[in-house]
Amino acid sequence: MSRFKDRVAVVTGAGSGIGEQTAKKLALDGAAVVLVGRTKEKLDRVAADILEGGEAEVFVFQADVKEESQVAGLASFVKETFGDLHILVNNAGTSGNAAIMDLDADEWDRIQETNVKSVFLVSKALGKIMMEGPEGARAIVNVASLSGHKAGAQIPHYSSSKAAVIHFTRSLALEFAEKGIRVNSVSPGFAETPMTSEGLKNKRFEEAVKRNTALGRVGQPEEIASVICFAASEEASYMTGSDLLVDGGWLIR
Ligand code: NAD
Repeated sequence: MSRFKDRVAVVTGAGSGIGEQTAKKLALDGAAVVLVGRTKEKLDRVAADILEGGEAEVFVFQADVKEESQVAGLASFVKETFGDLHILVNNAGTSGNAAIMDLDADEWDRIQETNVKSVFLVSKALGKIMMEGPEGARAIVNVASLSGHKAGAQIPHYSSSKAAVIHFTRSLALEFAEKGIRVNSVSPGFAETPMTSEGLKNKRFEEAVKRNTALGRVGQPEEIASVICFAASEEASYMTGSDLLVDGGWLIR
């Protein structure tokens, strides 16, 4: 299959978990993919895996996406290397647990800057390249969370950041529609990735996660990545400003 043939894609937080699986699917489906993250070794490993899987075009760019100057560097790299951009997946994110009374302002800022400010910075810098390109299909997919829909105790900073991503997506969709850029978000429920691996070591916690989902199991990052790729593809050509919940039926339970 080559759904993304002749497409250039950028995936942030591509060194592990959902970002890694999304980058792999995009590359194996024909896209030239730029893997973005802070740790070069992780990105190089993902790039090597992709190249081992078959013919693919993959690039590594090291950047902290909450830093405006580093995002500007990424934009220059994309512009100089490809001259155009078709798909952007704003996946990089971080989590944390703290009750409001134990939460300090620095930790609040870390979560908001990583999860929300980065989406704004990258969408602005790379959205400009998308707008300047020749006419054609373009899409941005932001990774939000079930927590952006459903409040959770001990994660006020995380859940509010993801609610902001869902709503920022709608604003971006309105502003970018006339430029032919669709913007959607995907909200994972609970998927087995490095972000959740510590929690899943606790069997009682894992059982609680399973009980909370209608499908009765933890999700896999590939199952989130396939929905991200759908939203990025032309199969979703009439969808913009939407949030796709991929939570195994947690919210309805
Ligand atoms: P993960 O920790 O494997 O992936 C996050 C990636 O983002 C990591 O590779 C990390 O290094 C990178 N990253 C973090 N801050 C960055 C920064 N400032 N600049 C560049 N890269 C940065 O976890 P994951 O579960 O794959 O998370 C991917 C996304 O999915 C996140 O936005 C997360 O909030 C969201 N999400 C995950 C789950 C889940 O259950 N795993 C549920 C809901 C939402």
